[in-house]
Amino acid sequence: MDNINPATGHAYGTIPRSDAQDVEAAVAAAKAAFPSWSTLPAAKRSEWLMKVANGIEARMEELALAESTDNGKPLSLARAVDIPRARDNFKFYATAILHDAYETHDMGIDGFNYTLRQPIGVAGCISPWNLPLYLFSWKIAPALAAGNTVVAKPSEVTPATAYLLSKILDEIDFPKGVLNLVHGLGAETGAAIVEHSDTAVISFTGGTATGKAISKVAAPMFKKLSLELGGKNANIIFDDCDFDEALKTSVRSSFANQGQICLCGSRIYVQRGIYEKFKEAFIERVKGLTVADPLSDEARMGAIVSEDHLNKVLSYIELAKEEGGVLLHGGHKVELEGRCKDGYFIAPTVFENLPATCRTNQEEIFGPLVTLTPFDTEEEALALANGTAYGLASTIWTTNLKVAHRMAAGIHAGIIWVNCWLLRDLRTPFGGVKQSGVGREGGFEALRFFTEPKNVCIKL
Ligand code: NAD
Repeated sequence: MDNINPATGHAYGTIPRSDAQDVEAAVAAAKAAFPSWSTLPAAKRSEWLMKVANGIEARMEELALAESTDNGKPLSLARAVDIPRARDNFKFYATAILHDAYETHDMGIDGFNYTLRQPIGVAGCISPWNLPLYLFSWKIAPALAAGNTVVAKPSEVTPATAYLLSKILDEIDFPKGVLNLVHGLGAETGAAIVEHSDTAVISFTGGTATGKAISKVAAPMFKKLSLELGGKNANIIFDDCDFDEALKTSVRSSFANQGQICLCGSRIYVQRGIYEKFKEAFIERVKGLTVADPLSDEARMGAIVSEDHLNKVLSYIELAKEEGGVLLHGGHKVELEGRCKDGYFIAPTVFENLPATCRTNQEEIFGPLVTLTPFDTEEEALALANGTAYGLASTIWTTNLKVAHRMAAGIHAGIIWVNCWLLRDLRTPFGGVKQSGVGREGGFEALRFFTEPKNVCIKL
């Protein structure tokens, strides 16, 4: 299959369209490698994961360039965030398993219980295109650390860094069969991984509709499932916030990676006392976001990941207008010159005057489009935040600690940021509720997910 560079709109390579037979071979290899990998002492598995992390470190620039070329994100972002984070994911789980411990339940003179947490077997890991190596490694690293072997599929839209990862595995002589990377389409390769009777645990990150399709197959097979799905995150800004900080960060949380981060806040609710002031300052800052060739130093925003996705976002811009939205900024394709003349670029787009219940404010767009809406009371803000089918993340801006605590407790989401955004500690649980998914990644939660607890009761 052609692999397209979204900044140029042209194919720059090809990837395999693997079928069920390829998946079969990968699962068989993973199954054969499981007995030796799962019984390797944790310290040895840790050493292997550290070698992968060091392999990433050694190819930092090459990986960043590949990520930017594949995804359209500014090279500066891939350098600063995506690739260092992929390296850190391996380091994190390489060291986490050295500090893991099991529970015991003491029954006094009668006996005691201890809990074994054993690796499950072959894990299927499927990831999306928005943070390709970053999210891919966020699944693979804990699965391997816990002692599972893995069959993993990157998004067919952004396969390049996964391919480079396979080269790193070869370079460091990573044990054969332990980590198997399979490229191909979701409905073919991805579905074959989910349907396979030997993939007992599936970790998926992607769209809600795909998550539902996977559940339908995996649930009757009683597979263990982690589903990290879509979002429609609220960014709630109270009158008493640190205005400059809320403003600066809200621009970032709206348009980082062209708004294609599941944690981006696409519904911005601002308390009425500062609404007009915030709106004006926000638009002024958004005007400064240069949409440019992702490889250039000036690019604050790069390309949308694919032509399909470009058309989807443009269709939502039209929908927002039809629904009565007032366009405050953007709302159009950006035509660049030179090598990017056929690329997929959209101006950062801001609407206001849209009801909370309209499709623009309800459906995940996953692009550079945000809405601004005023609110009056804390109760109203809470109802607005909770007023969609999603529940991934939310951001609260206030200097009133009581308001922050009440809102954090009341919002139906898996991740709440107070006076910050994307401040990440890898030890914390990560995931959503409602249509944003089930299960948690991150920290020891992921090690728990990739193991099966077994209670052993001993009578004294
Ligand atoms: P997608 O669901 O289209 O694809 C994700 C992955 O699933 C790809 O590798 C794809 O090939 C594969 N796939 C597709 N159909 C499949 C099937 N039937 N069986 C098995 N695998 C299948 O999602 P996308 O467009 O790549 O990514 C964007 C979506 O991901 C957005 O909805 C975004 O919110 C979500 N996302 C969520 C998180 C999170 O942590 N909650 C993080 C990043 C992205």
